[in-house]
Amino acid sequence: LSPVPSDIEISRAQTPKPISQLAQEIGLLPEELEAYGNTKAKVHLSLLNRLQHQPNGKYVLVAGITPTPLGEGKSTVTIGLVQALSAHLKLNSFACLRQPSQGPTFGVKGGAAGGGYAQVIPMEEFNLHLTGDIHAITAANNLVAAAIDARILHEATQSDRALYSRLVPSVNGVRCFSPIQMARLQRLGINKSDPSDLTPEEIRAFVRLDLDPEKVTWQRDGLGDMRARLGRMVVGSSRNGQPITADDLGVTGALAVLMKDAIKPTLMQTLEGTPVFVHAGPFANIAHGNSSVLADKLALKLVGEEGYVVTEAGFGADIGMEKFFNIKCRTSGLTPDVVVLVATVRALKMHGGGPNVTAGVPLPKEYINENLQLVADGCSNLKKQIQITHLFGVPVIVALNVFKTDTQAEIDMVCRIAEASGASAAVQCHHWSRGGRGSVELAHAVKKVASQKNHFQFLYNLQDSIVEKIRTIAQKVYGADDIELSPEAQAKIDYYNQQGFSALPICMAKTHLSLSHMPEKKGVPTGFILPIRDIRASIGAGFIYPLVGTMSTMPGLPTRPCFYDIDLDPVTEEIKGLF
Ligand code: ADP
Repeated sequence: LSPVPSDIEISRAQTPKPISQLAQEIGLLPEELEAYGNTKAKVHLSLLNRLQHQPNGKYVLVAGITPTPLGEGKSTVTIGLVQALSAHLKLNSFACLRQPSQGPTFGVKGGAAGGGYAQVIPMEEFNLHLTGDIHAITAANNLVAAAIDARILHEATQSDRALYSRLVPSVNGVRCFSPIQMARLQRLGINKSDPSDLTPEEIRAFVRLDLDPEKVTWQRDGLGDMRARLGRMVVGSSRNGQPITADDLGVTGALAVLMKDAIKPTLMQTLEGTPVFVHAGPFANIAHGNSSVLADKLALKLVGEEGYVVTEAGFGADIGMEKFFNIKCRTSGLTPDVVVLVATVRALKMHGGGPNVTAGVPLPKEYINENLQLVADGCSNLKKQIQITHLFGVPVIVALNVFKTDTQAEIDMVCRIAEASGASAAVQCHHWSRGGRGSVELAHAVKKVASQKNHFQFLYNLQDSIVEKIRTIAQKVYGADDIELSPEAQAKIDYYNQQGFSALPICMAKTHLSLSHMPEKKGVPTGFILPIRDIRASIGAGFIYPLVGTMSTMPGLPTRPCFYDIDLDPVTEEIKGLF
């Protein structure tokens, strides 16, 4: 339709097919599906076993130029591309997306279901509770908090021996270590299997939780891996500076029970009835900003050798894509075939020096009228993001997400510069206004480029020091001259080295609005030193995350959050003001 109706109007106008029908179409067995109503279902991880001998499909990553408040449309490109591959090129394809965060909480408008005629439906369900995974995480957090409180309280009032009695209870008068406790003792160098043999010093060491978490084995299947990671989460330090983990608190089993359904991806569909996995919602600052490894793995098996899985990385390629490669691919062992780099004329104009925009105020004329100079200047950012992709040895296709204000000369200029900068192809996409048929050209380009061999490589070795790994990302990806560590950051590095966490990958928490640490610096900033303010660790997830510049890990709400506009019609139950 022209003009294109609002996202919510388009979503509500389409009736989704029953989820059981979609499941059957993509080859799931009825017992592999757990329906949550008619439009969403959890998928059993046993599927991975059943399809273990099935070759993987092609693996496509959607990333973007440095984001601006004008929006780039990575989710719409992801969905438009799978709609084109499935519904128009008749190739099996799957989109893998993150679950939206509700803009902690409802501070910002918009979800991540795509937009226009490239959306996941029903979009209210996608953007709200979905299948309860986030609630499971909340419950798990509360459990850990309660366990820490209880432990602090009881440790303050009980002797080591009393605590030991509680940790190693006797059954019918016989004390017995659990397998985890045995492993913990061995890490302490205590090779005793009879709890009554421990000396007072050994009891003290056992109770003080002197654990070396780095040696916990990584299990490959979903539930086992999740349980091991939950157990490795560091929740504090003991009095002698050693990490205390969820295993030490004894909550790992209970956490796994709370999270057992959240580990299964949720199946939904696009407006054109093609399959989508929605799973996990990590932010791209303090986390890696990509959907789950399990969703991608299941989808790669389901589409088969001739099929395509399109997965999206948050923020710009310098952040979400760098983490996709260095953290997610390293963990999963999967190798991407091609990167689709999303750009818009409007955002490039801002990188070229166009004025800032304010929500609720009409767009400045630079973004409405043709301005080839701004586009040409802003393409510096596109060129840099293409170069970053090439550092990993993966070919890149530029997808220009066309807005109705773009002129043909502007579109042609971006495509020309992209190809001259080393992109394997550069195509314009009209999925937002036309659905899958607006992305057919992109789908053909993906099919062609993904069939070529690439030379994927990581940017750093895990064995490099923490400082070297941070410096490599800062210099090679962001273009910094060097890094500068605050005394706090240096102290944390010493601490993590001493705790045995130095061989983890790095997850930079940097502003997404610039390649540098300065959000106002657009284009390709040069001549800067990247300040590392502090460093933290997510041991369960398996990475160290440096805080860059003034980066805030949880921004507060604006003076007028969007929750003022959200309401419900008590008669029709229709949600208003969400999008
Ligand atoms: P990202 O994934 O990069 O954050 P989205 O794909 O979620 O961006 O798009 C952000 C918003 O921009 C959505 O509301 C979407 O409807 C809108 N949008 C995306 N592409 C276009 C387009 N070509 N024309 C108009 N609006 C668009």
